[in-house]
Amino acid sequence: HMAETDAPTIFDKIISKEIKANIIYEDDEALAFRDISPQAPVHFLVIPKNRSGLTRLSKATEAHKPLLGHLMWVAQHVAMKENLGDGFRVTVNDGPNGSQSVYHLHLHVMGGRQMGWPPG
Ligand code: 5GP
Repeated sequence: HMAETDAPTIFDKIISKEIKANIIYEDDEALAFRDISPQAPVHFLVIPKNRSGLTRLSKATEAHKPLLGHLMWVAQHVAMKENLGDGFRVTVNDGPNGSQSVYHLHLHVMGGRQMGWPPG
């Protein structure tokens, strides 16, 4: 489990297409791609292309509000394209207690099965 850092992450290489990912949505600001270690039948990540200080959600400032809203819009837009009309879960892991491992803000979108609550 990687320590928190401001260094570039593996997601930068996915954005630049240096490493392959199964990309299912892309626009000027955001990218969605399937998680390499899916925790549900459908599990994708939504990330900002420009991390712009958002190593983690708790770094958000007022200036990030439009981007944060856009990422949430992309989450549901792609969820609908993935036939998750029966429901899905959006999760952000923040920091050590949130078990965050990649320090480039990302929304997890999971569905295709009954999700339990509370999560572990
Ligand atoms: P976190 O624990 O930081 O919230 O989640 C990071 C997620 O990124 C994990 O679910 C992990 O499986 C996923 N991940 C890490 N490296 C890669 C990669 O190289 N490609 C893809 N597609 N997903 C990755």
